[in-house]
Amino acid sequence: MTPPLRPELAGLTVYRRDEALYRWDLSDNTNLFGSAPSALAAVSSWAGRSPSRYPTAGTDHLRLALAEWLGVAADQIVAGCGSNDMLDAAMRAFGAPGSRMAYAAPTFVMASHFAAANSLDVVVVPTPAGGEPDIAALIATGARVIYLATPNNPSGRAASPGAVEELFDRAPGVVILDEAYTEYLGSSWAAVAAGRDNVVVTRTFSKAWGLAGLRIGYAVGAARLVDEMAKARGPYKVNAVAEQAAAAAVENDRAWLAAVCDQTRQARVALGASLKGLGFAVLPSDANFVSVLVPDARRIATALEARGIAVRAMVGVAGLGALLRITVGPEPAMAALVAAMAEVPR
Ligand code: PMP
Repeated sequence: MTPPLRPELAGLTVYRRDEALYRWDLSDNTNLFGSAPSALAAVSSWAGRSPSRYPTAGTDHLRLALAEWLGVAADQIVAGCGSNDMLDAAMRAFGAPGSRMAYAAPTFVMASHFAAANSLDVVVVPTPAGGEPDIAALIATGARVIYLATPNNPSGRAASPGAVEELFDRAPGVVILDEAYTEYLGSSWAAVAAGRDNVVVTRTFSKAWGLAGLRIGYAVGAARLVDEMAKARGPYKVNAVAEQAAAAAVENDRAWLAAVCDQTRQARVALGASLKGLGFAVLPSDANFVSVLVPDARRIATALEARGIAVRAMVGVAGLGALLRITVGPEPAMAALVAAMAEVPR
């Protein structure tokens, strides 16, 4: 048998999205309420234009729009192909082959994937069930890179400000704070990160802005750090259409964003109450999804699929066990889900 090319990748799987069509796809935490309208207009305005030239190398239009919105300088921002790309670039920029990357488990699976793909040694720090991430244990790893998602995926919970500040102040290396869902929380550490020399905050247009298909994410931090990420990322990761669409959204659609987040929060509260009413154990969430602890997640997910509803089933989740992660969406989707959950054998 030929030896594997990269033994450290042996445990990783190729990410493939299940393209099966469901009546309601509540599996990927994208915005089921829609997309930023100015972004859609920008995409339409591209019709007929030639893409024969490269996009801008510096993504300056988007970075200027983001800088004004976030209250930071444009050179404290780097953009890329989704926040996945930003996480990958950050692991490469701040880690070195064989150095440690520590994260609070359970969390977004791609963090450890990108660490391993960049030959970092992954150190898992369990989060006490239902509690705060163990900041002291994360710091004690001595890791060159520490990853923390807030609000977290799959739990949905935001870390307390005290926990985040302690991590920022005492981390032995660089902190990557993943804020993919922070628009739903309504606050961000981006401006704080820009004023420090050891933190980058990653954010995305894939969730609340409703632009996952355009693949745009960004990171905010000290210019010295985001410059290193830009080198590790490589050029032209944000295509020209995506840049114009995202910049237009930031310039024109902030009221839309606030309204859609508000609508999502209300729907999340209603969904949580309905599922609790059926006797399910629903985790508290600050994001656009809720996780439900169930003994047999796969069986229930399959039963939901038979009813035309896709959710994300996870098993063996550290400290939580098996769960269903369900994206919050408009009323008809929520009604269909709750009706199906009332029927499925538990
Ligand atoms: N971080 C977290 C916590 C996520 O849940 C996701 C998407 N599932 C991402 C990052 C990546 O999102 P994107 O690459 O679309 O920005």
